[in-house]
Amino acid sequence: MSSLVVVGTVLQTPTPRTLAVSSDVAVVVGDDGVIEAVHPAASMEAKDAWAAAPRVQRLNAHERLLPGLIDLHVHAPQWPQLGTGLDLGLEKWLFDYTFPLEVRYADAGFALEVWDRLVPTLLRHGTTTAVYFSSIHEEATRLLAATCVRHGQRAFVGRVAMDHPEGTPRWYRDVDAKAGVAASAASIETIAGLPGARGLVAPIITPRFIPTCTDELLSGLGELAASTGALVQTHCSESDWEHGHVLERFGRRDAWMLQQFGLMRRGTVLAHGNLLDDGDFGVIRSAAAGVAHCPLSNSYFSNAVFPLRRALQQGVAVGLGSDVAGGAHPGLLPQCGHAVTVSRMLEDGVDGSRGAAERGVPGSRVDVVTAFHAATVGGASVLGIPAGLLAPGKLFDAFVVRTNDRESGLHVYEGLDDEARIFEKIVRLAAPSDIPAVWVGGRRVVTR
Ligand SMILES: [Zn+2]
Repeated sequence: MSSLVVVGTVLQTPTPRTLAVSSDVAVVVGDDGVIEAVHPAASMEAKDAWAAAPRVQRLNAHERLLPGLIDLHVHAPQWPQLGTGLDLGLEKWLFDYTFPLEVRYADAGFALEVWDRLVPTLLRHGTTTAVYFSSIHEEATRLLAATCVRHGQRAFVGRVAMDHPEGTPRWYRDVDAKAGVAASAASIETIAGLPGARGLVAPIITPRFIPTCTDELLSGLGELAASTGALVQTHCSESDWEHGHVLERFGRRDAWMLQQFGLMRRGTVLAHGNLLDDGDFGVIRSAAAGVAHCPLSNSYFSNAVFPLRRALQQGVAVGLGSDVAGGAHPGLLPQCGHAVTVSRMLEDGVDGSRGAAERGVPGSRVDVVTAFHAATVGGASVLGIPAGLLAPGKLFDAFVVRTNDRESGLHVYEGLDDEARIFEKIVRLAAPSDIPAVWVGGRRVVTR
């Protein structure tokens, strides 16, 4: 039984090289939030569907329907510091700036106040799925998952595990590895059992990264992943400091060590990955894990540009991440723009004192179609969820962009802008004020 029909023009990217334009179609959504069919709006099937559906939404000529954005990397507790502290190096930023904020989430009231601002904001940006690092606190993590359920955002929520006596401050760490594994196990059970979470919000095992975790904690969490089947997220080869720490401690590279600890699994989300080499890509590909490319955050903290195009050529699943608050913007559409920008800088190089031929890495550039594909289909394929495209059998996670609002910077000119240009303008320019509607699993979660 269909419960919703949305009629309008759909813009989406089924492959990294393809923009698909479906003009004037009816997207028919079932009671379960899954798309039943997509018909030409003028067809008999479409007319029958919207005659029977209790809810019909017809977009106007200035509006376009797009698949919802999947943000693979968000540090929820860092929300209050968004946009600040970005001139520091990663290690200093963590110890002097970020951990002192994260420790405050022992206070559940403070946590709830932050979550209640963060989650609706991301939804207004069109982020229908978010993969969250919470703090080390079980109660704050439970409240984050419950907040996602309440606001209707699809999410993976992870209690952060970290216990290394040298890699963490005394006042912000798990007591020891055993306690860390136990708290993560309890958090998984709590989130999985939350009323309304089923099919929407799931737990995810979250060792912060190797420098903050003892071997015992890492292997304990690997066993937990194997026994529960929960997904895993962590940071991987993010910066010279983090990558160098792993090399020095084990004499092996990050990706390889995560595999040794049982953490490189199907659906594992590896944040950043700027220093991954082709051998690492092979490890990630064979495990069916994937990378969260965070182009803006990487520009501040990661010492190198992630080679998105090379990773895709090697068959690695890649999605995009805002990395709130290492990235200074909550929206994923701006990250698409940043992904294009940094790929151009990687291709051309950045040091003008070098000759053009030795300045960059040829063949690195991507365009907005590839970037948007990563933000939708790419993220869905990393996580293994049926989202990222508006097609039969996929979840109806979607948002509307309205162009030509008087107050907006997003203007379309008839006779000048074809659908490809409209798409490019939407990706680069659309702001929350241009997004009047967002659905997650067929439920309307933003109305303007
Ligand atoms: Zn991060």
